[in-house]
Amino acid sequence: MPETLATQVAVAPPAAPLTIRMHAEDNVAIVANDGGLPAGTSVPGGPVLREKVPQGHKLALVDLPEGAAVLRYGVPIGYALHPIPAGSWVHERLLKMPEARGLDDLPMATRGAAPLPPLEGFTFEGYRNPDGSVGTRNILAITQTVQCVAGVTDFAVQRIKSELLPKYPNVDDVVALEHGYGCGVAIDAPDAVIPIRTLRHISQNPNFGGEVMVVSLGCEKLQPERLLPPGSIPISDARGADEEEGLDVVCLQDEAHIGFMSMVDSILRQADAHLQRLNARRRETVPASELVVGVQCGGSDAFSGVTANPAVGFCTDLLVRAGASVMFSETTEVRDGIAQLTARATTPEVAQAMVREMAWYDEYLKRGSVDRSANTTPGNKKGGLSNIVEKAMGSIVKSGSAPIANVLSPGEKLRAKGLTYAATPASDFICGTLQLAAGMNLHVFTTGRGTPYGLAAVPVIKVATRSELARRWYDLMDINAGTIADGQASIEDVGWELFRFMLDVASGRQKTWAERWKLHNQLVLFNPAPVT
Ligand code: CA
Repeated sequence: MPETLATQVAVAPPAAPLTIRMHAEDNVAIVANDGGLPAGTSVPGGPVLREKVPQGHKLALVDLPEGAAVLRYGVPIGYALHPIPAGSWVHERLLKMPEARGLDDLPMATRGAAPLPPLEGFTFEGYRNPDGSVGTRNILAITQTVQCVAGVTDFAVQRIKSELLPKYPNVDDVVALEHGYGCGVAIDAPDAVIPIRTLRHISQNPNFGGEVMVVSLGCEKLQPERLLPPGSIPISDARGADEEEGLDVVCLQDEAHIGFMSMVDSILRQADAHLQRLNARRRETVPASELVVGVQCGGSDAFSGVTANPAVGFCTDLLVRAGASVMFSETTEVRDGIAQLTARATTPEVAQAMVREMAWYDEYLKRGSVDRSANTTPGNKKGGLSNIVEKAMGSIVKSGSAPIANVLSPGEKLRAKGLTYAATPASDFICGTLQLAAGMNLHVFTTGRGTPYGLAAVPVIKVATRSELARRWYDLMDINAGTIADGQASIEDVGWELFRFMLDVASGRQKTWAERWKLHNQLVLFNPAPVT
């Protein structure tokens, strides 16, 4: 267990009533105490509670007349449907949700903030790749063109793990890139570009060392040459010059395969060549600027925007100052903050790209007869988040304060340093899959309700928003940001703790809990195009 968490687990929560207000103009605050606060509690500097308010939920600090804007983070998260007396529990059934901000007349790159001061001298031990990228793990990935081959590939991977991997101690793992795409889909539909480039770019993730091998069925729509056209795979330095430079494909329908075991043997034989080269790789000291970090949240509660996400935001600023790449995503969770984001863009073109992504997603949701409000879950609401506006204001703070320098469409590969808005759905698995495609080599995930989320391809650092969760899930949560609400640590303290932990994890000196237990969620491709 990380030492920091061990010491935090032993500390009891404070018993005095503790409420948190995010902004001087807010007319609600959230209850921080474990188990909430009972009716009759006198809130320091505030009203007496008229009813029990659960942990993470809001109380009215003043009388709110019908139609009054309920302010959290200094913005209206809703309007009172009825008069709400001071000391009441303000929950989602009492609020009318604001309309989404239109995408016209936004402030475009107006903030004009100077770049953050550089942060120098931080390094980690990583695997330098032929294309210049750096891996934090040394993994053989087996790319698949179609779901049809998943069972055979999985069978082969089990044998690779038991028969080959023990011979190659410098290789961390073998991962089958299983997915549901490849056939039975409208592959020429314009939006099919998204799942196809996502798969292509995942196979090029820095943690796979440029050693791409493909298992194909043979008759599928997504042919290997379409998935990985010539030139998309850098040839490893370790390969001999006389070696054939074509794509390494095991095709199950190849006539040379007689019976199932001959297919498995082909996969093992090809894998062995890649494992030999991966095994020769060694970690070397590289600057922290080689980190490519994807941040996201899942199972959020009202503390997400108070503790974990602000600490991640502080850490995002540290990473940007160190010259690293940081991506934040989750379109429906930033849509309500679009005016903040476009103002923070480095140029009008970057701001315009953000508007383009929001407009595309608005239209995508409209096709399904929903809007951004479809995002919030029963767990979010139980955790005190009334609606998507409140959730978004808490989600956006993961992006810190740096200027937004770059925007990616879903499945695109990241080529820039600094802070990037990588447009993805908020779905944990789809967001993680798309951030992998962008080239993420480290993942940070905040949670309030709790989720055991993990990915096989990159380490996932999980940050708990509440100490109660960190105590119960002591062997799943890597960092406890609940100490911020408990008054034991500052946002800066936890941000630095996360930054240092990231360098240790990236170097392989520390493993995340998800890695230790091998908790891996599936890749889930974002396919907005039709299936057939
Ligand atoms: Ca998410």
